[in-house]
Amino acid sequence: MTKLTDLTRGIVGHAAEGDAQDEADEYEVCPVCGEAFDRRLLQEAMYHFESDNHERLHTWH
Ligand SMILES: [Zn+2]
Repeated sequence: MTKLTDLTRGIVGHAAEGDAQDEADEYEVCPVCGEAFDRRLLQEAMYHFESDNHERLHTWH
């Protein structure tokens, strides 16, 4: 029984770690404006790739 509990905990812990890494991989920092954007959002990705001179899409306060 102890082994089963440890096994389950190990799988859950590993899955959570993998999710965090996958999420981080989806973000890219724009070399023009320095803003981190989600590359899965095509509109935002294109905004940063299309122009060599643009403002940040979002303003952070
Ligand atoms: Zn940008």
